Amino acid sequence: MIIAIDGPAASGKGTLARNLARHFGLPHLDTGLLYRATARAIIDAGRDLTDKDAAISAARGLALTDFNETLLRGREMAEAASIVAAIPEVRAALVELQRAFAHRPGGAVLDGRDIGSVICPEACPKIFVTASAEARAARRALELKSQGEKADYAAVLEEILRRDARDKNRATAPLMAAKDAIVLDTTTLDAEAAFKAALAIVSRCTSRAGVASGHG
Ligand code: C5P
Repeated sequence: MIIAIDGPAASGKGTLARNLARHFGLPHLDTGLLYRATARAIIDAGRDLTDKDAAISAARGLALTDFNETLLRGREMAEAASIVAAIPEVRAALVELQRAFAHRPGGAVLDGRDIGSVICPEACPKIFVTASAEARAARRALELKSQGEKADYAAVLEEILRRDARDKNRATAPLMAAKDAIVLDTTTLDAEAAFKAALAIVSRCTSRAGVASGHG
């Protein structure tokens, strides 16, 4: 089973993906890390984020073992990732890595922005996790504060809106719900409630697969 989870920043998709992966005993790939690691490699090489050649070679050189999450998690890297993620050749360079992960025997959980629409159009379930920008900013600000970072709600909201706009309006693989994705709005849901709602969505796919294979 391939579980595809997409959605905007701080929608709760990462937590949901981790919970589903644990529940079903599947490997999980947070695909945002690929774009963050690409951005980091460009910065470390002393190049500019808009330098297309540097970005393409950074993306081509990535391996899934490269991720130092501590270096990649910050707000600056999120912003930097969304700049390189708008370069079509960078996205193309990362497709096979993601597909190979998704097609591991037994399946996988991937979360990102274009998993259901581009990387794994065959996935079932596809869950598009969303929440109001205000709820997402409040969550992110709280999370940053708990990590000891100074987080001004208004600044976090502005960052989220800017990143949403860049991710939604880029020409290649923009952030959007795949046509057959189920939208899960977490504005008023905590992580546990979102997980329960997601399990119900997953079960629609597993029962459909059971029927198709004669086990239903
Ligand atoms: O999910 P995360 O916040 O780590 O993603 C950082 C940025 O990477 C996003 O804002 C987006 O621009 C880009 N991204 C993407 N496609 C993905 C995952 C992330 O374009 N599948």
